[in-house]
Amino acid sequence: MRLLLVEDDELLGNGLQVGLRQNGYAVDWVKDGRSAELFLAAGTYDLMILDLGLPARSGLEVLRTQRRGGSALPVLILTARDTVEDKVSGLDSGADEYLVKPFDLDELAARIRALLRRRSGRGEPVIRHRDLVLDPASHAVMRAGRPVDLSPREFAVLRQLLENRGRVLSRARLEQGLYSWADEIDSNAVEVHIHHLRRKLWPELIRTIRGVGYVIDKES
Ligand code: CA
Repeated sequence: MRLLLVEDDELLGNGLQVGLRQNGYAVDWVKDGRSAELFLAAGTYDLMILDLGLPARSGLEVLRTQRRGGSALPVLILTARDTVEDKVSGLDSGADEYLVKPFDLDELAARIRALLRRRSGRGEPVIRHRDLVLDPASHAVMRAGRPVDLSPREFAVLRQLLENRGRVLSRARLEQGLYSWADEIDSNAVEVHIHHLRRKLWPELIRTIRGVGYVIDKES
């Protein structure tokens, strides 16, 4: 899953980027409203964490422009202003959730999981598929009640495919969920992760659609 973090405070932004990566997300961090719009136009994100007080363009302006353009991207706003009016105008401008600074990273991570869960139409915190259970909170995967040992990137690929069951995800889309723009990408990394997932789980779990990408079919 790939997140866009928009925060002009160096210390907070850096801490969030590190903490969110430890939670298994690919994170792009930008520090002003105009950069946020450039990154949103160029990349595919699963969620945006948006500070309101930003240079160049305010968080509210960025948010309103996105919503006017038809974007349904889940947005969590961060605000130092804890007045009721700020929260109301943030939510009325299209934010899905807000956190008042200072906040706890664990709470932010839990709210992100809740937003992503809502977006995928799940009520349950874990993802179930046949005898497989994936828990985004604990980063655990169980098959028939037994833990499966996956690397963080194998977990991230499996989670993306399960969250998008029935939809073919291109290699580029899967790569976007794994790497930030600053990271070097191995040209065959996704194929290698898919190969390992098929070996550790079962071969038919992930179907290759030649020339298009990969899919986990919905349970029939
Ligand atoms: Ca700020």
